[in-house]
Amino acid sequence: MTPQLISPPRRSLADLGEVIGPDRLRALWESADELRRRLGGRTVWQVNSTATGGGVAEMLQVLMGYLADAELPVHWLVVGGEAEFFDITKRLHNRMHGAAGGPPLTESDAAAYARATAINAAAVGELTRPGDIVVLHDPQTAGMAPGLAARGVTVIWRCHIGADRRTPVSQEAWEFLRPHLTAAEAYVFSLAHYRPDFLPAERTVVIPPSIDPAAPKNADLDPATVEAVLRACGVFTGGADGPARFIRRDGRPGEVTRTAKLLADELPSPDEPMLVQISRWDRLKDMAGVLTAFAQRVAPAGPGCLVLAGPQVDEVGDDPEGAQVYAECQAVWQALPRESRRRTVLASLPLEDLDENAVMVNALQRHATVIAQKSLAEGFGLTVAEAMWKRRPVVGSAVGGILDQLGDGRGVLVEPSDAAGFAGAVRRLLDDRTEAARIGEAAHDFVHQEYLGDRHLLRWAGLLGRFL
Ligand code: UDP
Repeated sequence: MTPQLISPPRRSLADLGEVIGPDRLRALWESADELRRRLGGRTVWQVNSTATGGGVAEMLQVLMGYLADAELPVHWLVVGGEAEFFDITKRLHNRMHGAAGGPPLTESDAAAYARATAINAAAVGELTRPGDIVVLHDPQTAGMAPGLAARGVTVIWRCHIGADRRTPVSQEAWEFLRPHLTAAEAYVFSLAHYRPDFLPAERTVVIPPSIDPAAPKNADLDPATVEAVLRACGVFTGGADGPARFIRRDGRPGEVTRTAKLLADELPSPDEPMLVQISRWDRLKDMAGVLTAFAQRVAPAGPGCLVLAGPQVDEVGDDPEGAQVYAECQAVWQALPRESRRRTVLASLPLEDLDENAVMVNALQRHATVIAQKSLAEGFGLTVAEAMWKRRPVVGSAVGGILDQLGDGRGVLVEPSDAAGFAGAVRRLLDDRTEAARIGEAAHDFVHQEYLGDRHLLRWAGLLGRFL
């Protein structure tokens, strides 16, 4: 399959400057100018396996828009594969997070993986020139490293996932990838301890992802627009009758016209406290665990509703488990006692129009009284940074990147197996608006400091500079 070239709309660095201030903007321009000069005609290629759905696509959509504004020669390619290939890479993904998820990886899987990634390497290799830099994202593309390196391209492997502890299962995944990875010249992880021992520390850097404060996903929305968006997509009925308008990434006006697919007995009222978790339908996000904890422990102790939102399940190309996990959540929902079930909603958000999808996520996060991210494992957890930016108090699992984000009182951390602790923290924050606001403020300041696009671009410019 020919790699698909993705060109997200240009994002204005000047708009980002409104948020980060003139000093940070100046540092960003200086670094971009320096990088452009040093690239001297070379191209940087970002390669992953989906243009929509999930954190990697989200991050690339933003980054590419800003790089275009800085007129840096960076392109984004999406490579494909057969269902068998994505079944293997999903098992790899689960195992790298330390979860078994599917049968063990066999020699025949290794051969199929090598074949598929070699085909993708050859196809991408047709587009690159010696001296170019290719950034391969995640296990779906790692096997392309030897084929591309053989063409004189500098390969950097960017891994967005990992486990807090080495286990036999995660070790199995690393051994599977190991023969492919040695061809890369540098490795990028979201957290330092995700690096497996066999990759050299001196060629590894830590770069967390970033969010875009000016994009439809995170831009300010006034309360009337939030309500209008949630009404337009079907989460609310009634309420004020204003238009669900927003600004698209390319600056044009947009309006929410599509609706979410909802599983609900009753729709929430705009006035009741709301707990929200937004995730792909992936077992490691534990949407079912949130549903059960809410129904059994949060709902009986006070007012409020729960909205679990994810992408419509047939729309995330490299995630074959989505439909199955959604069906499992649906079964858990159906089995809930009626009294608590009527206070919960499963929402599948349409992905045909990414800006519309983004503004729905934005409105849900802004409307939420409390945000949950009850993941069993988490590479970084962009949804956490997005919620923190919106000054929402987040109750998250003490795993992976969530730990770094919510530590030191910037949210509430709970062990993923501690359903009572999770429910207790959610209940407390649904009821205590003062504490929720205090946490939300600290959360916002931290994201401003650490996880906006300029920080991300500067970290990348530093790494790329090493090869030029
Ligand atoms: N997301 C979205 N629509 C959805 C569900 C998720 O846009 O219906 C986005 C979410 O806002 C976040 C990304 O997908 O930007 C998920 O990234 P995260 O790092 O939290 O998890 P991942 O999916 O990469 O495991």
